[in-house]
Amino acid sequence: MNFPSRETVERLRREYPVGCRIVLDEMDDPYTKIPVGAQATCQGVDDAGNILCAWDCGSGLSIAFGADRCHKVRTDDEAKITLEWYGKRQPKENARCPRCGCRMDGASSRHALSRRAGIMICDEDGMREALEDAGIMERMQLTQWAAIAGPECGEGPWEG
Ligand SMILES: [Zn+2]
Repeated sequence: MNFPSRETVERLRREYPVGCRIVLDEMDDPYTKIPVGAQATCQGVDDAGNILCAWDCGSGLSIAFGADRCHKVRTDDEAKITLEWYGKRQPKENARCPRCGCRMDGASSRHALSRRAGIMICDEDGMREALEDAGIMERMQLTQWAAIAGPECGEGPWEG
């Protein structure tokens, strides 16, 4: 067994705060059914350095310290998968805009459907995306959205 030092565990906890989104690179288990590229929400890091995961596919397998490899969501394609996942779980009312983080009053369906992923955003951001597509505003990266950047910075799990 390969046990990490306390410093390593603390570094892992800073790097993988609860709520951040994780992408699987490699799992050292021939029987695992979790494919490379699958995503999970981080549940924490245990004292042995294992990253506790809630995989979108329903599995609860941990990323084993020293054996498995993963990274945090860092590309727009990866962020889009996360946003689609959040979109399916977005609260029907008073949801938070995943782009700017503001509260969207009333029914989510009355706000704007994002042009980037299947998720509702606030009316102002709907307008901004239209301006981006028209070339009038510079396009915002999906990794900069509040729903992606917040959890990655340790603000906790994204709550719709
Ligand atoms: Zn917004």
